[in-house]
Amino acid sequence: MGRIFNFAAGPAVLPEEVLQEAAAEMLDYKGTGMSVMEMSHRSKPYQQIIDEAEADIRELMNIPDNYKVLFLQGGASQQFAMIPMNLMKNKKAGFVVTGQWAKKAYQEAKIFGEAVELASSADKTFSYIPDCSDLAITDDMDYVYICENNTIYGTKYKTLPNTKGKTLVADVSSCFLSEPVDVSKYGVIYGGVQKNVGPAGVVIVIIREDLITEDTLPGTPTMLKYKIHADNGSLYNTPPAYGIYICGKVFKWLKKMGGLTVMQELNQRKAKILYDFLDESKLFKGTVVKEDRSLMNVPFVTGNEEIDAKFVKEAKAAGLESLKGHRSVGGMRASIYNAMPIEGVEKLVEFMRNFEKENA
Ligand SMILES: *Cc1c(COP(=O)(O)O)cnc(C)c1O
Repeated sequence: MGRIFNFAAGPAVLPEEVLQEAAAEMLDYKGTGMSVMEMSHRSKPYQQIIDEAEADIRELMNIPDNYKVLFLQGGASQQFAMIPMNLMKNKKAGFVVTGQWAKKAYQEAKIFGEAVELASSADKTFSYIPDCSDLAITDDMDYVYICENNTIYGTKYKTLPNTKGKTLVADVSSCFLSEPVDVSKYGVIYGGVQKNVGPAGVVIVIIREDLITEDTLPGTPTMLKYKIHADNGSLYNTPPAYGIYICGKVFKWLKKMGGLTVMQELNQRKAKILYDFLDESKLFKGTVVKEDRSLMNVPFVTGNEEIDAKFVKEAKAAGLESLKGHRSVGGMRASIYNAMPIEGVEKLVEFMRNFEKENA
């Protein structure tokens, strides 16, 4: 039995090395005689795991000292509520709606205050990023919210919005650690890790310290206060301990690969192979405007649902897994995250080329 190339959007491919290491440590983590899954989160070995994970992500992303790194639960979706509960002091925030995840965050925020749609690309099935150079941001807005890489539609901001001095909050679930970022431009960067970092169950929140206050909206549950988790080093209650351990291993793998600049170059190379083919193909077409293409999620269509279905089926038989597009876009989507080897993309393009010949 061999491993397939997994193009799933999330949960998604993880580095094989990381899985092998975890397998080797499954029964006896570094002489403790137990698995990390069985270990107290208050134990010394576990404290070392979470401390190292934090130190490594700080190094990888060059996170300034006045930011906290929180390892939380509830997925990215829980942040849709947690962000307004903690940040909406004036009960007003602006949202750029570039897809389903941004829309869900926008709708959830409406439970807590006035959520204003500043721009949207819904008019063209979210196939582009709207111009965000002069948004109607008002002085009473607590923050401006974006989804930086749109997993379903395959778009990515190439420049951040002009927030006119307001705090920028970004969901980076599907582009987390795919390229270097300037953390100081954001108030909050967060992501569910199951797209590009680790196993489902962990969400990482990088938040500027001045945004962590006691002053949350009335009725905010204890577990949904950033301050509680920040004050307790993400160990207020039992954290998603095993997931954090795997994230830590992925951070070490990324460091070994050469860090985020190297990953960006690799991701650009991988994406170029696929986009170049899509641009010359007579059968397959990318669905996103060129300027806003994601390096991570690449949706494409043939324009014929039957041929799309045939492609997905035959690709699967050839060891190219989970290429079916999201139901709202149709067609196909190849998610080519950090851990997707370049050989996987090459094999996909070779398969597409042959499929095109046979189905012309
Ligand atoms: C998958 C995804 C989410 C939702 O993540 P959950 O962890 O399932 O809540 C939110 N935002 C983006 C950009 C995603 O890709």
